[in-house]
Amino acid sequence: MSKDDSIIKIARCPVCYMKEIDEFLTYDEKDELYYCRKCCFEGTAQDTKRIFDSYLRNKYPKMG
Ligand SMILES: [Zn+2]
Repeated sequence: MSKDDSIIKIARCPVCYMKEIDEFLTYDEKDELYYCRKCCFEGTAQDTKRIFDSYLRNKYPKMG
């Protein structure tokens, strides 16, 4: 179950998330890249996770 949660989190666009927009990414299996149709974000699952992590760390510096 927790594995599914992380996939949902990764599938959310971090750039739109920062603007408080809930936009899901499109995954291209061939390129192994995630794309956002709302903004011009594209990146791997690791890129997406890293942006999320640094954003959450800045927003909640006392957590973790
Ligand atoms: Zn986006």
